[in-house]
Amino acid sequence: MEGIVIKSTGSFYTVKQDDGAIIQCKLKGKFKIEGLKATNPVVAGDRVGFKYLDDKTTGLINKIQKRKNYIIRKATNLSKLTHIVAANIDNAFLIVTLAEPRTSTGFIDRFLVTAEAYSIPTHIVFNKIDINDKELKNRRNELIEIYTKIGYKCYEVSALKEINIDILKEKMKDKINLFAGHSGVGKSELINKIEPGLSIQIGEISKVHNKGKHTTTFAEMHELSFGGYIIDTPGIKEFGLIDFYKEELFHYFPEIFRISSECQFHNCTHEHEPNCAVIRAVEEGIISETRYKNYINILTDSDMDINEWELR
Ligand code: ZN
Repeated sequence: MEGIVIKSTGSFYTVKQDDGAIIQCKLKGKFKIEGLKATNPVVAGDRVGFKYLDDKTTGLINKIQKRKNYIIRKATNLSKLTHIVAANIDNAFLIVTLAEPRTSTGFIDRFLVTAEAYSIPTHIVFNKIDINDKELKNRRNELIEIYTKIGYKCYEVSALKEINIDILKEKMKDKINLFAGHSGVGKSELINKIEPGLSIQIGEISKVHNKGKHTTTFAEMHELSFGGYIIDTPGIKEFGLIDFYKEELFHYFPEIFRISSECQFHNCTHEHEPNCAVIRAVEEGIISETRYKNYINILTDSDMDINEWELR
């Protein structure tokens, strides 16, 4: 039998079978995934194989399919062990607002870098487009042009006025979708318009998790009535940490990566080297200056660990 894990408590796994039935499963013995020192081998989003136990109401997971991606965070601050938050995410939606509160491009770009590192396709959702302000609208158009050119899909929505919610739903249908964003950007309001009643449920779960200091956060997938799932994350912290060398950072800025093969030095950091194709592209306006600045900011940041990044 096969199915998808929609909830994990660490010892029990709720599996949705392909025929729609729900079954509680246990894990067979000690399951280890090669090359990954994780405290939890099976997470929400995993596709698993299982067999029924004698009572026919519970199952035993005996196979985990290869993940296309997953997000992790450190199990504890001091530990080298990682904790997998969720797997097989089809879409990440970063909810941003340009006012009340303002989401900085620094924040957007750090999120995008993380998502690129995890191979998660990310879409930028501009909420509160109902705010009637010409300057804001111009700024939004500028950003949409920058990010669309790189290859990110941008959405302009209003949870309040219910504008373009259907377009989002269409994109989410039958997929595993992750929602992220600063507090105040209207994430719960948006989720509520996508699936009425769901944001309340998610809110309550987050509250329970925050109570105990040592509670491990397990992501839960919430089923969407129109098909697919949503994973809510309280913040970028839950999205995990970046674990790569600084020299690789430009790999996660797609437009910088694309042009980097034209640099004179193969180990060019695109910061100061002569005959750097990236610096030239910035000067020529082919690569956005803001994006480049954010690249340099991350590059020269003394701490690459996203868990330490200030989020408010
Ligand atoms: Zn270069």
